[in-house]
Amino acid sequence: MGNPNPPTPDTSKSAPLPPGMVIGPDGKPCKICTAFRNWKPPGTSKSKKAAAAGTAAATTVAAIADTNTRPANCPPDVEDLGRATWTFLHTTAAYYPDKPTVTQRASMLSLLRSLPTLYPCGHCASHLGENMKEHPPRVGSRSELSKWLCERHNDVNVRLGKEKFDCAKVDERWKDGPPD
Ligand code: FAD
Repeated sequence: MGNPNPPTPDTSKSAPLPPGMVIGPDGKPCKICTAFRNWKPPGTSKSKKAAAAGTAAATTVAAIADTNTRPANCPPDVEDLGRATWTFLHTTAAYYPDKPTVTQRASMLSLLRSLPTLYPCGHCASHLGENMKEHPPRVGSRSELSKWLCERHNDVNVRLGKEKFDCAKVDERWKDGPPD
């Protein structure tokens, strides 16, 4: 039988983490919570040294190194997973009915409510769970859902220091494309 109270890892004596590395609930470095460019321990290459310095220029250099050096069949990092998930969610919202049936509403609610439990990046999932308590999903129509989702994505953007997206443009971005 497993120990119901596993020991909490003592990280107080460990070496400081490289910038951007995230520790998972098991006390180990969490791959799916960490951007690939932050994953490798600081080494000798210029881009890694620059990344460790944590400057804006360093981030740009590291991002270029990331796309140049990362094997195509690498498992997703926190950014790949995020982009794929947002693509799925915004596109699903863009094609959600204007007048959803009771079953469609229930299915959408179930999908959204499952994310804080199932999303593989634990700290992303728990932020989302807290955010959804404050802003419960609005699934009454396509436009309502698209706006709600845009606002949740903007909450993450702001938390990560990114610009807010103009929610008036969700259809252009996720359904119709730019005007001719
Ligand atoms: P993304 O933010 O992935 O956006 C993809 C595209 O969506 C953009 O290019 C833009 O065209 C469009 N877009 C941007 N904002 C909006 C909006 N508001 N509405 C509609 N369309 C928009 N990463 C972390 O490091 N920490 C976290 O805690 C974290 N939490 C997350 C929680 C969830 C639920 C999800 C799905 C992802 C989370 N991520 C988190 C990942 C993060 O949001 C990004 O996906 C990742 O950093 C890659 O960002 P990006 O700049 O490539 O574009």
